Amino acid sequence: MCYNSPPGKDVLTLLKSTFVLMQIHSSCSLKPYNTFGIDLPAAQLVRLMDEEELAPIGDLAQGTAPRVLGGGSNILLTHELKDLIVKNELKGINLLEENEQHTWLEVKAGEVWHDFVMYAIAQNLGGIENLALIPGCVGAAPIQNIGAYGVEVRQTIDEVIAWHWEEQRYLSFKNEDCRFGYRDSIFKREMKDRLIITSVVFRLDKVHCLNTSYGAVQQQLEIMGVSEASVKSVAEAVMAIRRSKLPDPKTLGNAGSFFKNPTITRQQFDSLCAHHPDLPSYPASEGQVKIPAGWLIENCGWKGYREGAVGVHEKQALVLVNYGGAKGADLYQLSEKILRSVLEKFDITLEREVNIW
Ligand SMILES: Cc1cc2nc3c(=O)[nH]c(=O)nc-3n(C[C@H](O)[C@H](O)[C@H](O)COP(=O)(O)OP(=O)(O)OC[C@H]3O[C@@H](n4cnc5c(N)ncnc54)[C@H](O)[C@@H]3O)c2cc1C
Repeated sequence: MCYNSPPGKDVLTLLKSTFVLMQIHSSCSLKPYNTFGIDLPAAQLVRLMDEEELAPIGDLAQGTAPRVLGGGSNILLTHELKDLIVKNELKGINLLEENEQHTWLEVKAGEVWHDFVMYAIAQNLGGIENLALIPGCVGAAPIQNIGAYGVEVRQTIDEVIAWHWEEQRYLSFKNEDCRFGYRDSIFKREMKDRLIITSVVFRLDKVHCLNTSYGAVQQQLEIMGVSEASVKSVAEAVMAIRRSKLPDPKTLGNAGSFFKNPTITRQQFDSLCAHHPDLPSYPASEGQVKIPAGWLIENCGWKGYREGAVGVHEKQALVLVNYGGAKGADLYQLSEKILRSVLEKFDITLEREVNIW
């Protein structure tokens, strides 16, 4: 097997007894591998392209679980990493089954998420069109149950297949085993850092049930002159909205929403409304109330704030940005200040959506 080298200083080639040849990159910069564009080195990085390499990689990590990297669009690097990093580049889409209503596809974890959305649309398969243009890889999608414009990926996931580093075997998680929640799943909790997701089985719709409930999607379809929406036109509307609202990591380092939208009790919401009658809210489960974190942050005066190379995006207060050459620790400090000010003003503790490494 012959692999392309990412930018790095030393490349050490290992031949394992299982006849699997891998390239391990030492002291390699992670800058091209995270959308914040933070320049920190990894002690060792291996690009996983073949599942036969899983057991040898587990051996190489010597009892500790390696860190798994997808597209690097939901991580903030704050320090030099000593752990073995596995860049998931497993590729392939297989048709498993179909009937009159649905098609089941097994998608390897290293496939680019947006490319998969486009593949589904080209096959006229529905269910993930609202999730177009979310950066990252398919393997990370179940981890925080990616969501946008009224749809969460859990609605289409049938099964998640993963390799358990310690037990050295595959595990299968049916949809109900994944314990999906808002930006949450078992992979962020009990199974965190124990396994690598190798593929995801999606059940996509042949008979479409389009979700255009978001006002912005409806408006965009009108602007586009669409009278009868399709999976393709919904995806195009979502892409147009995202391009107009969110900074492109290729030009401005960011990881999308830095914080989750907090959920508070009805009682807390009512007492906050006494001081902030314009506080927006959405119903959440168990009679609770969800508040847009962006509104809280904006109302603490952070929107458009800049401090050296780090800042809060001028159009979207939920997005922290790297103007160039920022340190991850500076972005983390900024997030701390935001957390504190929201707590002081609203008595609400924000939770980071981005994974801190
Ligand atoms: C501009 C922008 C817009 C965004 N918009 C949205 C949005 O609308 N909705 C949304 O939900 N998210 C959004 N995100 C966040 C991000 O795109 C998603 O969380 C995405 O799923 C992350 O994928 P990734 O491959 O880049 O994961 P990474 O950042 O590489 O990894 C994220 C976490 O998952 C783990 N991980 C990754 N792959 C695997 C695997 N195969 N097995 C085990 N663990 C793994 C990593 O160890 C890490 O802890 C946005 C990000 C950006 C930059």
